Amino acid sequence: MTDELKQSLRRTWGYDSFRPFQEKAMRAVLAGRDSLVVLPTGGGKSLCFQAPATVLPGTALVVSPLISLMKDQIDALGECGVPAARLDSTLEPPERAEVMARLRGGELKLLYLAPERLLSEGFLDRLEEVELSFVAVDEAHCVSFWGHDFRPEYRELGCLKSALSGIPVHAYTATATARVREDVIAQLGLVDPEILVGDFDRPNLVYRTARRADLSRQLGKVLARHEGESGIVYCIRRADVDDLCAELRAEGHRALPYHAGLSAADRKANQEAFIHEEAELIVATVAFGMGIDKPNVRFVVHAGMPKSLEHYQQESGRAGRDGLEAECLLLYAPGDYGVWKQIQRELKGDALESAMAKLNAIYAYCTGIECRHRALSAYFGQFLPEKSCEACDVCLGDLTYAPKALEIAQKILSCVLRLREGFGAEYTCLTLTGSKEKRILRNGHDRLSTYGLLADQPRRSARDWIEQLVTQGYLAKAGEYATLSVTQSGRRALRGDETPRLLAPAAARPARKSRVAAESWEGVDETLFERLRVLRKRLADERGVPAYVVFGDAALRDLARLKPRTSEEFLSAHGVGEKKRDQFGAVFLEEIAAHAATGVGGDSS
Ligand code: ADP
Repeated sequence: MTDELKQSLRRTWGYDSFRPFQEKAMRAVLAGRDSLVVLPTGGGKSLCFQAPATVLPGTALVVSPLISLMKDQIDALGECGVPAARLDSTLEPPERAEVMARLRGGELKLLYLAPERLLSEGFLDRLEEVELSFVAVDEAHCVSFWGHDFRPEYRELGCLKSALSGIPVHAYTATATARVREDVIAQLGLVDPEILVGDFDRPNLVYRTARRADLSRQLGKVLARHEGESGIVYCIRRADVDDLCAELRAEGHRALPYHAGLSAADRKANQEAFIHEEAELIVATVAFGMGIDKPNVRFVVHAGMPKSLEHYQQESGRAGRDGLEAECLLLYAPGDYGVWKQIQRELKGDALESAMAKLNAIYAYCTGIECRHRALSAYFGQFLPEKSCEACDVCLGDLTYAPKALEIAQKILSCVLRLREGFGAEYTCLTLTGSKEKRILRNGHDRLSTYGLLADQPRRSARDWIEQLVTQGYLAKAGEYATLSVTQSGRRALRGDETPRLLAPAAARPARKSRVAAESWEGVDETLFERLRVLRKRLADERGVPAYVVFGDAALRDLARLKPRTSEEFLSAHGVGEKKRDQFGAVFLEEIAAHAATGVGGDSS
């Protein structure tokens, strides 16, 4: 059966190898054992149930929370030649009847349904004469109250195991915490499930974090690097979305807004335009993203700090699902911390404590200078080796360190002591930079020996250095007002026994390409790639499907690298299965031949 699986992967999807954990996850399905599979966004969860469904007898039921998600997956399956359909509230009765007839006739390999449809009156009984292979519950964290997207209708899925006795149930999610995992297993009543938890690191994402100074300029640089490519810009508030989107449009970018204040119809239209690449940019609040599995999002910029690393992981994770390089830039300002604190002030007890812990963790991430991949993974309980990831600002050497860090740190640490460890970062910064603010003068802190010690430095740098000392453990923050105190390490630094690292603002230099970027563009004829991209868009538009349903960027790059001349060679490209060869081989081969005839282009490497 595993051989059949590999064949199906090659013939149907054009993939030569499994992504990590996919094979194990598929084996669990073939073995008829319940399973829980946790893979990060872009890890390839769908294939874990789609490929086995094609080789097992019968139909697999896939429970999915969003109609748009189902639609995309079914379109993509259709293009690969896999018979799949969906039953949801948007279908007219005759369409529904047709799907039911195909189901009874044993024609479908996969049937997608919303949970409420599966559990609706009598539906399970009507499945009695249907041969089912298994049930796959996608976005399974929705069953858990502890997840970030609890859905009451998902809770009801607990009855499946008993209602469909003997049919294995498989749960898939990208949410990592142990608590959610246990809850999913308990709620769905999985029996002795195979539990597979993938790696949370996404090596193809290049993470950068910077203090927000001049948003237009900082964002402009990213946009210039990704001309014509798809990207998402996240803002904290709706008003920021509207302002930024208007600004970008005025500059000639095809940008559209997305937030909960827009009508459902506008949201849908903007999302569709993004998926179909009529707009390359979406400017959005957190409301945007669930149900977007567009694989070729090449960059995600956060114009403000999200409220937790869970959110950051999820939102930045929408970049580079196709495994190709993608850029994630987080622009933060200390004020963002205050905004979130303000928004969360309604919370009480444990909920408040947990929210503040999450907020502190992401702020520490922003101001930290540890490898971003390592810091993110560590937050999710996974520890990466201490070597350069070659895919973050720290490891790529984008950051420059301040000279005389020890001296600067000692000035800051002694100021905190002189303030009797009774003030927060902002106040300390004002004192150090010699502010004449009333409260400083009123407290007589202009007479401290440390007053104005950093007056020759930009105030913003002084403020950042304080945060950097906090994240490196030389200073601690405590209490409601985040009062600063000097830790044991801080005291060692004061004696000169330890030297903290402090950042100088980066000098302007071109961003280095990450390792993944260098590899995936190796040997690619970029002019041909652009030509094929235009062709892909035309074919996609003719079919009314998103471009990536025709071919993903990885397939396109491989074609622009291999420049196949025959149908056989065409089939050997990444992401080209038999159906796609039959459907698109001729037009693509023609385009490649036409390009060769012009004699333009060549290897970019
Ligand atoms: P997830 O649901 O885990 O976020 P998807 O199932 O949407 O991820 O897969 C992300 C992308 O990776 C899709 O474009 C998919 O076709 C591609 N993919 C999945 N498995 C493989 C594989 N083994 N080889 C190459 N590409 C893959």
